[in-house]
Amino acid sequence: MTSLPEAQLGEVPEELHAPWQPGTPAPAGTDPDAGPDSQADTDAHAGAVQASAPRIPDARITEAQAAAKLPLERNRAVRGRNHAAPLPMPAQPLAEPGKELPLVFKAPRRQKPAPHWIDLTPEERIAAVEKLGHKKFRARQLGHHWFERLAHDPQEWTDLPADAREELARALFPTLLTRVNEQRADKGATIKTLWRLHDGSLVESVLMRYAATAHSSARTTLCVSSQAGCGMACPFCATGQGGLQRNMSAGEIVMQVLDAGRRLQSGDVPGGTGRVNNIVFMGMGEPLANYKAVTSAVRTLTSPAPDGFGMSARGITVSTVGLVPRIEQLAEEGIPISLALSLHAPDDELRDELVPINTRWKVDEVVDAAWHYAQKTRRRVSIEYIMIRDINDQPERADLLARVLKKRGDWGWFHVNLIPLNPTPGSIWTASDRAVEAEFVRRLVARGVPVTVRDTRGSDIDGACGQLAASAD
Ligand code: SAH
Repeated sequence: MTSLPEAQLGEVPEELHAPWQPGTPAPAGTDPDAGPDSQADTDAHAGAVQASAPRIPDARITEAQAAAKLPLERNRAVRGRNHAAPLPMPAQPLAEPGKELPLVFKAPRRQKPAPHWIDLTPEERIAAVEKLGHKKFRARQLGHHWFERLAHDPQEWTDLPADAREELARALFPTLLTRVNEQRADKGATIKTLWRLHDGSLVESVLMRYAATAHSSARTTLCVSSQAGCGMACPFCATGQGGLQRNMSAGEIVMQVLDAGRRLQSGDVPGGTGRVNNIVFMGMGEPLANYKAVTSAVRTLTSPAPDGFGMSARGITVSTVGLVPRIEQLAEEGIPISLALSLHAPDDELRDELVPINTRWKVDEVVDAAWHYAQKTRRRVSIEYIMIRDINDQPERADLLARVLKKRGDWGWFHVNLIPLNPTPGSIWTASDRAVEAEFVRRLVARGVPVTVRDTRGSDIDGACGQLAASAD
C-alpha cells in the first residue's frame, strides 16, 4: 500500500474485480482513481484508465522527497543495478529475427486535412471570420454552437444570417472524420467506431459507458486515437505491428470527442443521455510522438466555451511508451492531465524487446521521468503493466517492479494497473494464468504497491487495448 490514508484512496469500483476468480484474493483496495473526487475509469478497453488521478497533497511530496533521498541524479547512478540475479528471459526473441519493425518517430509527410476551426487559435478564428467579411462576434457564436451546444449542422445556427451559415460551414468546418462502421459489445455499453480521414487513413475510437455502482456514479470514457497507425513497434500490439501512417491533426483528435459528445447528448447510445467524462489517449498511436497536435487538442478540450469543449484536465489521460524528453516537456506545460506509462517490464533486458523504445530510454530513465511528472503536476502516474504468460509475469519481476517504483519514494506518486494481454492476430502470446496473476498482485501488495487489474472492455470486437488495427473489412 502507499502511505496515503485509505480515505483518500477511496474504494475500488466493482468492475475492477471483474477479472478475478471467486475465491482468489481481490487486488488491493487501493485504486486511486476511485477517490471521491474523481470519476475515473480504471477499467476500460484501453482500460484505462486512470482517467483522473487524484492530486497528491503537496505536503506529502515534500515529506516523501526527503524520505526518498533519491534525486533524479542518484536514480540514474543506480541504473542497471536493479537486480542481482538474472531474470528469466523468453526462450525465443519476441520479434522474429529479421522481422523486427523499426522505431519510427517522424511521421511520413502526408497531405494535411483542410484547416478546421478547431485547429485555429481563438485569435485566428476571429481573423478567419473577419476575412470572410463577417463581424467579429460571429466567432463567439460559432464557438458556442460548435463546442458547447455541439450543434454541427449549420441549419441550427439560427442566430446567424441564413446565407452566412453555409458559407462559414464550408470555409471553416470541413468534414474531418467519416464514420465507416461501428461495432458494439458489452450490451451496447462499448462502441468501437472506425473513422476514415480525408486521405483515406483509418483510425478508431472506443466509447465505454459505466453504470453507477455503490462506489461510483455513472460515467463515460472515450478512448481516442492520436496517430493513424503507430511507429513504436511493440510486438504485442496490433497497432504497433501495422506501422505508422501519419500523425493526426488536433482537429481530427478533438472531433472524435465532439462526435461522442453529440451522440451521448442525443441519447443515441444505450444508457440514456450523457456526456464524455473521461478521455484516454489509449487508442491508436503514440500520443507523445505527435506532441504538438496532442497538446493543442488537450488545450481545446479543456478551454471553456466558446474557445473549447470545457472539460476538466483531470478527466484526461495520456498514455505513453516513454518518450522521456516529451514527458519532461509535458510536465512543464501547466496542464494537469494524468500520465500513464506503459512499462510492461521492470528490467531493461526484457523491456528492450517488449517496448522497443527502451533501447533509447531505459527503465530507470523513464521511471525517473514519470516520478518527476508526478512531482511537478501532483498527479498520480499510472504504471501500465500487461500480463503476458511466461514472458513478464514471474514473481521475481513483481518484486523488481515494486523495488524500481518504490526506490523513488513511497509518497503515493504511482499506482500499478495490470492489463491481461488481449489477443492480437498472429500473436503467439496469451494472458497470464489467473493464479500467476494473483501471485503477481499478492507480491506487489505485500510490498506496499497500490495495484488494480484492468477490466478489459471490448475484446470481442477487437476494441480492447492493443487490438485497434483499423481495417474496413
Ligand atoms: N502508445 C501508447 C498508447 C496506446 S496503447 C502506449 O503505448 O501507452 C494503450 C495501452 O494498451 C498501452 O499500455 C499498451 O501497451 C496497451 N496494449 C497494447 N497492446 C496490448 C494488448 N495486446 N493487450 C493489452 N494491452 C495492450
